[in-house]
Parts: sequence; structure tokens; C-alpha cells
Amino acid sequence: MNANLFDILARSITDAEAPAIETLDGARINYADLVARTGRMANALVSLGVKPDDRVAVQAEKSVEAIILYLATARVGAVFLPLNTGYTAAEVAYFINDAEPSLFVCDPSRAADLTVAAEKAQARMVTLDAKGKGSLTDAAAAAPAGFDTVLRDKDDLAALLYTSGTTGRSKGAMLTHGNLVSNALSLRETWHYTDKDVLIHALPIFHTHGLFVATNVTLFSGASMIFLPKFDIDRIFELMGRATVLMGVPTFYVRLLEDDMLNVETTANMRLFVSGSAPLLAETHREWRARTGHAILERYGMTETNMNTSNPYDGERVAGTVGLPLPGTEVIVTDPETGAELLQGEIGMIEVRGANVFKGYWRMPEKTDAELRANGFFITGDLGRIDDKGYVHIVGRGKDLIITGGYNVYPKEIEAEIDEIPGVLESAVIGIAHKDFGEAVTAVVVPTGTPGLTEAAIIAALEGHLARFKQPKRVMFVTQLPRNTMGKVQKNLLREQYAELYHK
Ligand code: AMP
Repeated sequence: MNANLFDILARSITDAEAPAIETLDGARINYADLVARTGRMANALVSLGVKPDDRVAVQAEKSVEAIILYLATARVGAVFLPLNTGYTAAEVAYFINDAEPSLFVCDPSRAADLTVAAEKAQARMVTLDAKGKGSLTDAAAAAPAGFDTVLRDKDDLAALLYTSGTTGRSKGAMLTHGNLVSNALSLRETWHYTDKDVLIHALPIFHTHGLFVATNVTLFSGASMIFLPKFDIDRIFELMGRATVLMGVPTFYVRLLEDDMLNVETTANMRLFVSGSAPLLAETHREWRARTGHAILERYGMTETNMNTSNPYDGERVAGTVGLPLPGTEVIVTDPETGAELLQGEIGMIEVRGANVFKGYWRMPEKTDAELRANGFFITGDLGRIDDKGYVHIVGRGKDLIITGGYNVYPKEIEAEIDEIPGVLESAVIGIAHKDFGEAVTAVVVPTGTPGLTEAAIIAALEGHLARFKQPKRVMFVTQLPRNTMGKVQKNLLREQYAELYHK
């Protein structure tokens, strides 16, 4: 049987007339259109010289056509390589040079800047704009719809996604057809997804969340999704009347909570709110539940592994945890130094194994060996623990761990205490070089604007709540925390900004 993700998707279609993707201009394509249009696109790709195993690099705005391109790339047996639309020409040149795609698809506005890089990598360049128009679309329109989907094994590559690379060089995670299909199916089951579902799709499609979690789960369920070019509060409120699912990063939920429109009535038609890609504050979870009656379902995953854990659909969705391992995925916590499995409840390195875990880093065998064990466990880089009910708690990235005076401090514990102080909107705790302590616990706080919140007041409020060595040595105030497009706080930028704080 063909393990090509498109073939499995096509075989699962039960109603070809059912809507698959809708856009805000009212355009709608159904599953029959999806098959036909991916067929045309697949023929176009072949005529542009794309062969099985070739990479197809894409830096294009979100459009239905870009999704068609993703599926068509799978159909021809090639490897889809989406690039963040925020990357500069120089950054894109690095990825093209590293991945050596045979085809590079970009927005017409970028074409001139990237011609040299594409030529150097011997990649043919075609265009696709935000409206789904360009030389690629023209080639697809002229091509026939019939296409025999290329035979793939479950271990063959379907996608190459570069990690965000906040430390060091960005690495290309090699994802197989088996990785993507298995994860889509286990999320479908876990989240009780059906062909009745209508997803509000407001995420970018160059990242695992919007591309695989949102798109694959929807299409593998025969459900439909409404494409928003970006997060747009007014549109989301309009759509909640007829949609059933929203998938978002925590900032979506924080922003929606700031709107008076959010209440039980405006969310009455919705069945599921999913959050992931960055930690959702327990407080956001509680406030959301109080305002709407819905418990946000938090899940945990990453580029290299797809999704690993999820709070349960029927059981208790515990605020501040990322839930239980997904079916087919094992999660263990190990000693970061020795790799030995720790006892239940102890904090250590989260490792995961399962059909969802990637094949390795593109052309980086040493990195692959360092992070992917021979027994199949991937060392995630996230620190956490598993509680007595089996729920996974993430305490932070390994690289964010602070070692002060020889003691380990987990930033999340300190942030949770600071966030409870009246007048604090949110906080980020980082370690900054210090001559006595090695690293000094340092808090960066966003105030709500209530008067009287001073550095001394925050430090005083933590007295008695946290051991002395965990208390911040300094508290810095900012108007907002730096975040990347997926809502993750960029602690590396804060560490750079305050690097000299204790050396003055
Ligand atoms: P990315 O590869 O860009 O998807 O980033 C993956 C990283 O995001 C993980 O290794 C975690 O550090 C973080 N992450 C994803 N989901 C969650 C979550 N629900 N809670 C906390 N951190 C998360």
C-alpha cells in the first residue's frame, strides 16, 4: 500500500463534495477540487523538473494555493520545505544553499533579491503571491488534473522544516510521510475531530502548528477550515458563530481575553480551543474558563517530533500542564547528565519516542547522533516532570535553566510566583553572568500600569514564597516581552540585552 500522505488522505475522503478550505473572500474548495488542483500542481512540478526526493523550498504568504503546493509536493514524492515569511533574503539564501532545492517558490516581490542565491544552488525559481497568483499557478492552470501519486514508503521524507535556531545554526528537521500521517491520525482520535468540524485557521503555514497540526488534522478528518491570512480578532469573533475549533498560540487567547466580546454566548458554537507552541499561563486557562465555560486544551510538540502530548478531550484538562502522551508516543524524563531515566515526579530532560519522531537533521549526522538516541528516544531540550496522574509539566527549555551559586533554578517556577503579584502582567526570568554566583536570577517584568510596582516591591513580595537563592537579584521593567511569530518569548534576546547588568 502506498504510504504517501496524499494517497492516504485521498483514500480517506468519503464526501468529495464536502468543503475543505474556505477563504475570507467567500471562495471555497471542496475535496474533489483539492484532488484535482493538487493533480494539476503535481504535473506542473514535474514539468518544472521536480523529481522524487528533490526539495521544494517555499517562501510564500498564506494562501490556498500554498496548501495545494504542499500536497502536490507530497504527490510527486518530493520534500516540502516551508520558510518563515519573515526571513530576510540573506537568511533564505542560507537555507537554499543548505537544502539545495530543485525548485524555489517565492513571492514576486522577493524574486529579484533571491535570483543569485537560487542560481547558485541551481534551483529553478517560480513565483506565488499572497492571492495565490504567480508563474507557478499559471503553470498549474495549464496542466492536466490527472496524476498518479508517487509511491512512497512511510520512512521516505515528506518535509524539511528548519528549527527556529535561537541558539546556533538553524537545523533542518527531516520529517517522513509516516511521521506526519501517524500524528494527524492520533490527534484526530484524541481531539474527537470529525467531518462536522470547521476550524478557524489563523496560524502561519510555514510552521508545524499551522501546517501539520491544523491542516493535516482537518483534511484527514474530512473537515473544513477557514483561512485567515493572520490573527484577526474581529474576524475570529465573526467566525466563532459557525466554526467549531480554534487552534492558537497562547498570545491568541490573551488577546481574545482582552476583548469584551468574549463570553459564553459568542463561543457557544465552539467545541474546542487548542493552545500550543509556547506555554499557556495557568491564569489564562482559568480566566478563559470563567469567561466562556470552555477549558482550553493545551498540547505540546515541536518541529522535530510533531505533537507529543495533549490534555485529554474527555478527562481533566489541567491548567499549567501539557497533558498525557498521545497514543503511540512514549514520554520519559531523564537525568540531563547521565541520560538515566528518573523517578516519577523528578525534574529532568523530556525525551520522546514514537512514530511521530523525525528521522534526523539534514546533513548534520553529529547533531542527529547527539539528540536522537539509538533506541529511538529524542532528547527534546525541554525540562519537565511527569506527575502522579501521568500529566507532563514543562518547566522550561534546558538552555534556559539558571545555575546560580551551584543551585539549579527553573525559570517557570519564579515566573509563576512573580505573575501572581498584583500589578504584574507577565514576566520572564533569565540567568545573567555574575562574578559571585556564576549566573544571577534576573526578572524581566511587564507591569499592568498599576502604580506602586517597584523593583523592591517585587523582591519583597517574593520573600517567604521562594528560597533566597531563587529570588531575583534584579528586576527590570519593560513594556512588552520580545516574542517570535509563534508567540515564544525570545529569552536569548533578553539575555543579550542585559548581559552586562552585573558588570557595571
Ligand atoms: P517549535 O519547534 O518551534 O515548534 O518549538 C518547540 C518548542 O516549543 C518545544 O520544544 C517547547 O519548548 C515549546 N512548546 C511547544 N508547545 C509548548 C507548550 N504547550 N508549553 C510549553 N512549551 C511548549
